[in-house]
Amino acid sequence: MLVMKFGGTSVGSVEAFAQVATIVADKMAEQTRTTTTRPGVAVVTSAMSGVTNMLIEAARRAAQGDEEFYQEIENSLRVKHQSVVGQFIDDGAERAALGRVFEQRLQEFSRLCSSITVLGELTNRGLDVVSGLGERLSAPLLAAVLRANGVPAEYVDATEIVVTDNVFGGAAPLLAETTERTLPRLLPMVEKGIVPVVTGFVGATVDGIPTTLGRGASDYTAAIIGAVLDADEIQIWTDVNGVMTADPRIVSNARSLNQLSYEEVAELAYYGAKVLHPQTVTPAVEKKIPIRVLNTFEPSHPGTRIVDRRDTPSSGTVKAITSIRGMNLVTVGGRGMIGVPGIAARTFSAVATMGANVLMISQSSSEQSICFVVPEASAPTVINALRAEFKTELERHYIDQIDGHADVAIIAVVGSGMRGTPGLAASIFQAVGSHSINVIAIAQGSSEANVSLVVEAARAADAVRAIHDIFELHKPTSERIKTA
Ligand code: ADP
Ligand code: ASP
Ligand code: MG
Repeated sequence: MLVMKFGGTSVGSVEAFAQVATIVADKMAEQTRTTTTRPGVAVVTSAMSGVTNMLIEAARRAAQGDEEFYQEIENSLRVKHQSVVGQFIDDGAERAALGRVFEQRLQEFSRLCSSITVLGELTNRGLDVVSGLGERLSAPLLAAVLRANGVPAEYVDATEIVVTDNVFGGAAPLLAETTERTLPRLLPMVEKGIVPVVTGFVGATVDGIPTTLGRGASDYTAAIIGAVLDADEIQIWTDVNGVMTADPRIVSNARSLNQLSYEEVAELAYYGAKVLHPQTVTPAVEKKIPIRVLNTFEPSHPGTRIVDRRDTPSSGTVKAITSIRGMNLVTVGGRGMIGVPGIAARTFSAVATMGANVLMISQSSSEQSICFVVPEASAPTVINALRAEFKTELERHYIDQIDGHADVAIIAVVGSGMRGTPGLAASIFQAVGSHSINVIAIAQGSSEANVSLVVEAARAADAVRAIHDIFELHKPTSERIKTA
């Protein structure tokens, strides 16, 4: 059994829908031909590309009183989805039914935006309802396109099966409840040879209030469904040939990687590799379900297989480089900190109280400062909380610096073969140094699968390219001179 997730570009145009229909039909045929015990396919889809951004922008503008913009968006959403209908759906009843679904969703969108305008405020809860509409338009459409191409398929709204907590904008699934609702809904369909087409990204609380799992989280939905169904493989169909040595938009000669471990992919995704949502591996790890990242526009390419560390050969050291921008490096420093226990604990408990996500920590060996990286948006509250926590120490000059360095990026160099390999840090410094890129801070993750550095955001792309070059990641592993 396979769970196949199609991303925004994979359902972004008439041509893309045609590709997806062929891919799903082929996989269905392959499943019945070759799989022994449990054949079948379940599909998870994103919104058509650009749609989630349009919905969010419309809701934001509505909160500022702009009523025209959301009406324009409503029209372009209608045109965008109807153009696919026009191309694929000949059956009159199917067309009419889809038309009704679209109009219902679009009316909901316009009603929601209108009430946001009246309130003059956009809450995370309200935003989740609006931003989840994209998948609730694309999934019924994809199900109909599959049927029109001879694949039995049925639309499933994930708000009915993916149960989450109520952290709007980034909800976490409740696995027991999700399993309880998903299995009886999806399994009988899959077993009958019907492809359920499930909305990615969205869920609902136990009380049925709509939530989203966070931007880019349709991958996560696929992994959740894959784990619940105990799929043989979770396939993430996107617009590149798998996970690459770097973002091909930054490094033009990046190569695709055949195989990675869950751990390596989690590090890459966490530090900005958009190709997979950072939570995607979580549901897959426990059941050891392989994840494969594939290209909708080059389906014959084997892509990247993501499996347990013990099943991946540890050849090569550095596997990939990634970067994440929009960060702030906060420093707590002062000579009075030396040898004083508890400063780090108080620092991080103050940060935790603010609910900020710390992406990297680095402490100088002299203990004169602690630096850590948080998203730019959390920096002001974090700095204020620290100044309040250390008010006395600041007055006595035990601590004389609590401030943030804005506009930085974290560069992460990832590969589990880096464990215990000497000289790696030296090569990384040589690479960035030779391009006059200043390294503001450095840290090695305890997993040793990652060395991270902080640089000015404006130099992030140069740093990624320089490190990619020095490790010759554009070449196959066997041809690389430098292995450290
Ligand atoms: P989808 O809409 O299919 O979910 P995304 O845009 O979310 O696709 O993710 C795919 C994009 O991720 C690629 O087009 C690529 O630019 C970007 N990306 C960033 N880092 C990497 C990487 N290491 N390997 C492959 N793609 C990457
Ligand atoms: N449509 C959602 C987003 O753009 C989820 C996804 O594409 O994975 O964030
Ligand atoms: Mg994505």
